This record gives sequence, C-alpha cells and structure tokens, in this order.
Amino acid sequence: MLSRCEDEVAIVTRDPRYDVLFEQVRIGPVTAKNRFYQVPHCNGSGSVSPHTQAAMRGMKAAGGWGVVNTEWCSIHPTSDTPAAGASRMWSDEDVRTNLMLTEAVHRHGALAGCELAHAGLTAHNHFSRMNVMGPSPRPLPRQDFPGNGRAMTKEDIRNLRKWYRQAVARCIQAEFDIVYLYVSHGITVFTDFLSPRINTRTDEYGGKIENRVRLLRETLEDVADVAAGRCAVAVRFCVDEHRGATAITAEDGRAVIEMLAEMPDLWDVNVGGPDDMLTSRFRKEGWQEPGIAFVKQLTSKPVVGVGRFTSPDTMVSMIRRGILDLIGCARPSIADPFLPRKIEEGRPDDIRECIGCNICLASNQLSVPIRCTQNPTMSEEWRRGWHPEIIPPKPRSARVLVVGAGPAGLEAARAAGARGYDVTLAEAGRELGGHLNQVAKLPGLAEWIRVRDWRVGQLQKMDHVAIFRESRLDTEAIVELGHEHVILATGSSWRRDGVGLTNYVPIPGHDQSHVVSPDDVLSGVKPASPVVIFDDDSYFMGGALAELLARQNCDVTIVVASSHISPWTQLTFEHSEIHKRLVSLGVRIVLNSNLSRIGVETVEISGLFGEPMRQLPAAGVVLVTMRVANDALYHDLQALASTAQGTAASITTVGDCRTPGLIAEAVFSGHSAARNLDAEDDGGLPFRVEQVPASFEPPLPGQGRPQGT
Ligand code: ADP
Ligand code: SF4
Repeated sequence: MLSRCEDEVAIVTRDPRYDVLFEQVRIGPVTAKNRFYQVPHCNGSGSVSPHTQAAMRGMKAAGGWGVVNTEWCSIHPTSDTPAAGASRMWSDEDVRTNLMLTEAVHRHGALAGCELAHAGLTAHNHFSRMNVMGPSPRPLPRQDFPGNGRAMTKEDIRNLRKWYRQAVARCIQAEFDIVYLYVSHGITVFTDFLSPRINTRTDEYGGKIENRVRLLRETLEDVADVAAGRCAVAVRFCVDEHRGATAITAEDGRAVIEMLAEMPDLWDVNVGGPDDMLTSRFRKEGWQEPGIAFVKQLTSKPVVGVGRFTSPDTMVSMIRRGILDLIGCARPSIADPFLPRKIEEGRPDDIRECIGCNICLASNQLSVPIRCTQNPTMSEEWRRGWHPEIIPPKPRSARVLVVGAGPAGLEAARAAGARGYDVTLAEAGRELGGHLNQVAKLPGLAEWIRVRDWRVGQLQKMDHVAIFRESRLDTEAIVELGHEHVILATGSSWRRDGVGLTNYVPIPGHDQSHVVSPDDVLSGVKPASPVVIFDDDSYFMGGALAELLARQNCDVTIVVASSHISPWTQLTFEHSEIHKRLVSLGVRIVLNSNLSRIGVETVEISGLFGEPMRQLPAAGVVLVTMRVANDALYHDLQALASTAQGTAASITTVGDCRTPGLIAEAVFSGHSAARNLDAEDDGGLPFRVEQVPASFEPPLPGQGRPQGT
C-alpha cells in the first residue's frame, strides 16, 4: 500500500545486488532508463478503447518499467487481425489515438515502443474483406470464412514494404521511441516467408534461407531508413518454432541472426512459436534460456528475452551471465505493474507474482479488456479509475467482518484493510487460501498458490486486520460480533448429482458410494480403478483430475460432453497440451458424449449426435459438472436483517459464494466489495464507457444534407 503521490521518488533502499537492473541501456538513438522492459502484449482494448489502453500502459510506466510497448499494431487493412480489440496504424487518425499512449508512457520517463505487424496468412480480414495473403497459397484457418490466402505478387511485396514505411512515419508522428518488425509466434508475414513448409515459392523470396529472409531484410532496411535516428528499430524474432524440420528451426534462427545481426537496434527474441506464452502448468520461469542464450554472442546490439520473470535474483542472473541485456516481461507486468518500483524501493516481497494462468490471454482472445487473476485493477485504470497500489481511504470508521479466506475473502480483507478499516477475517479451516489449497496441489498448478501467499503476506503487515483460523461462524456469531459491514466469502461446492450444462436432471445412479465429486478427490479420496470421469465443465478441473488419477496408476477414461477436452482452455492456449499429456499418460478420451446412467460396475455413455448407447467399465465415477454457491449464511443473515437482530449496515457476498467462477472473478469480486464499502450509489453506470466519436464526414453517398437546410 502506498500512501504517497504515485510519482513521488521513494527513498531508495534497494538491495545493491539489484543495482544492475537499474542501469541505463542504449537502444540505437534512445536510452532506456533501466533494464525493465515490458515486451509487446495484447490487451483486448486496442484502437477501439484507446483511453483504456493508454491508462494501462501509463500505469506500467508509473510502476517503473523503462520501456513500455504496445500490443500487436496492424499496419494495413490487409492485416486486420483481430478485427476488434487490436491496435492499428492505418491512417493519420490512428496517430491521434496512439499519441494518447505515448504521452501516458512518457509522463513517467519510460520509452514507448510500437509493435508494427502484418499477419500474412494468419490475418482474418473479417472486417476489411480484403484478400488474406502470404508467400504461397494456404487454406484459411477453420474459424475464418472458408477459402484460401493467396500468394503475394511482386507488387504486393512492394506494397507491403510501402505500408511499413508509412506506418513507421506515423509512429514517429505519434512520438514512439521504438518501432518493431514483428517476426514471431507464427502469426506474421515474415514468419510465413521464413517457414519452408508455408513458403513454397520458387522466386528469389523462396527456397534457401537467404531467400526466405529477403523480405525481412528489405523491410528492415526500409524501416531503418525512415526511422533514421529518430527512433530505434527492434525485431521481435522467434529463433526456433519447435515444430520440426519444416518450420523455423534452431539452425534457421541462428542463420537469420547471423545475417541480420547488426541491422536492428534491438533483438527481442523468444522460442516456441505460440508456445512462447504457455501457462505455468507446462512451462516454468526462465524456460526459454537454452533456446535464446546464443543470440548475444552473435550481435553487439541489446537483446531482450522473456521467461515470465518475477524473481529479481533470476533477472540479475540473466544479466550477469550475459544471456540478456533487458528483462522482457509481459504477464509479470500485468500481474504487477509496479514490479520495478518494488525492487527499487527495497521491497521485493511485495511483488504480486504472476501465476501463469493465462486468464489475461483468454480475455484478449475474447476481445475484451484483459483481466488478471492476481491484479484485479488490470484494465480498470481508466474506466473505473482503479490504481493497483493506491486505494481510497475509508470515509468513516467502521469494522468489517470477512467470512471465509479463499481468494475472494483474502482480497476483500486485504483491500478493506488497505483502506484503513478494522477488519476481522474468520476462516473455518486451519489454512488460509480456501479451495486454492487443494487446487494448487493438482499436477502443474503449484504456482497458483501465489494468489494466497501474496495476500496473506500483505495482511500480515496490517495491525488493524485480525485473522481467526478454525473459526466457522454461524449467523448467531456474526450478529453477536456486530460489525458494521459483513462480507461473506464462503465459497462453493461441486454438485454430486450430475446436473450441469448437459443434464438438467440428476443422472440416474449418482447416489451410489463409488460416485464422487471433485471436492472428494481434492480432499484425498481415490476412486476405485477403472475410473470414469464425466467432464461437463469447460475449464481445467476434469483434465487435471484425469492427470492426477492417471499418475496415481488409475485406469482412467474421461467422457467429455464437448467436442474438445477442457474446451475453455483453448483460450488459455493449454488445450492441445492437456490433450497431448492425457494421451501420453494413457487416458482414454471420449468426446461429444453424455453420461446417461451409472450402474454398479459400469456406466452408460450416449453420443450427443445419435451414436448408439454403449457401456464402459467403471468401479469409480467422478462427476465434474457444476458448482453451487455456499450461500446459506447469506440468506439466513438477510432474513435476520429485517429484524432487530440484524445490525450490519451492509451484508455482501463475494466470489464463489456469490456465483462460482474463475479465481480471477473471485479476486475481482472481493476487491470490488472492499472498494464499495460506504460508497454512495449514484445510480449511474458502474464504469466509464469509451465513446466512438460521431464523425461521419463527409456525408455518405446520396445521404448528404440538402443545400440550404
Ligand atoms: P472463493 O474462491 O470464493 O474465495 P473458496 O471456496 O476458495 O471461495 O473459499 C471459501 C472459504 O470459506 C473456505 O476456506 C471455507 O473454509 C471458508 N468458509 C466457508 N464457510 C465458512 C464459515 N461459516 N465461517 C468461516 N469460514 C467459512
Ligand atoms: Fe499472470 Fe494469470 Fe495475471 Fe495473466 S492473468 S498476468 S497469467 S496471473
């Protein structure tokens, strides 16, 4: 919690071990004030919500990042990927919206970078209706209109280079300090040209690597020519796509760096194509190092790389060992925009570490402003006026009782405590953390416990917050305590009867002793083998339980109502990893099916598209269908509130006890409730909405206003 003005220079008490992180770094014609580098990351706001994006990026600059970049910024309508929620630099009008961002970033002494991009064959062009194009013809991805992307002609290539020059000129007008050529993640025209499986041209742009790199080299020359000392030029390059010999291999990556080594002012490198941003379930901090360590040996230009870095010691090690010059972070800067400032002020323990869940990425995929499990203020800087470190003080003295210490209760208690309220946090169990304590023990999810640990660490610093463990409260106890505000965060429980998205009535046979819920398995119950898991939920639980039980040597079949296992994890980029892992563990996956009956030693499976009923052996059954809110206390208190016994000024539910959902939503809900304590409801909208200017000039053809009226 900060009680000072956000830009006030704190007394620097940082550990001298971290001094190296605060050294300046020269990037071509500009200088970064330190080594903290927010690499480009999508944010779901883009050009349609420029205030939201500018305020979010500006907050990172306030938090001490030396360089703050945009997200993917399209250079031309032939690359309108995605149609909503991405940045663009198509016209002079776009200069104005991007100026909002650069001003917000410059205000705090950071450099602003723009990731200029053309999507090549991965453009959607749903909005522009222009041809998708790349080096060679390819079918469009399944989510697009059926058809092909076409091969670029020499004129198309000349146009692409021209659009880049125009976009860079506009970036200079918009006062960017760094412009990018984006050559990563398998979603750019340059990666299309570099990849031999996509680029089958026989002209000077296809064939050997010297030809496949030609378009990148020529465009880099163009961009450097326009930038000409007015801004730095960066290349974001995937040095190894990890997709076998036909994609961009490690040898290709090395060859490209060797050929272009001194041409850009900065190399921003990564490995793994789209896997670059996998979750903590599948990749740990610093995992990219072996793939990118060679780059600094081939160039004298500064090198930035990523690895979901949250530990200042790891960051220092990357610099000292000559792996990187700048510490690239996307997700760690979302989870904690003030990460650099906390290191600088000698309080690294206050860093709110990213848990690697990719809820941020999923929101962007849904074209909405990104949200974050750890940072409930993310994307709320402009529309709700929320600051990640500063929260308005309480308007009056009052005591707040928070019941339940899961993610929602912990955040409600923390934020209310930060506002200065006297807080009592009561938890029925011995451990704080609620359902997270069990979920974080599932394979690969250990980092999720950071949601608990950061909040408990902050609460322990507040003398006016009292924590009571093993204190299950009932209505009488709550009334007796007599706090002015009661926040109920009592969580949820999994249904045991199979009712959920697919089944509106209980599954026959659900009430037998060998049928268990996720809560049972998470508490240590091991169902008998062979076990059938019925997964009618959309997120991680079914797949994670299948992995857990398979690792415990159970014979596991997972029956999934959807056409994909853990379907929502397509948005977190985990879906194919989950599927691959279960296959590798010998789990049988049955898609598009319902569990229609549970017998003593078998279950009946019915296909959702009329396939004949069949039976599977099942000595144990786990039903992963839906959760119900544990809200009995709330309803009892509401009933009391109308009597003389009810003394609380407010009784609120938060998190899963209000409505079960993501951990991110539980944290957000707890945070909102704390901010709303003693707030006046003016009946208006809960947040500001970005308005599209009504600038339809000149008039539409045939609809011009008649002269003289
Ligand atoms: P959320 O995700 O909404 O924070 P969780 O299920 O993680 O919810 O946490 C709810 C917590 O509330 C659990 O730790 C549970 O032990 C606690 N709890 C439930 N009922 C009571 C109660 N009556 N008194 C105190 N704690 C409670
Ligand atoms: Fe990290 Fe998850 Fe927040 Fe994304 S949503 S920044 S992955 S904690």
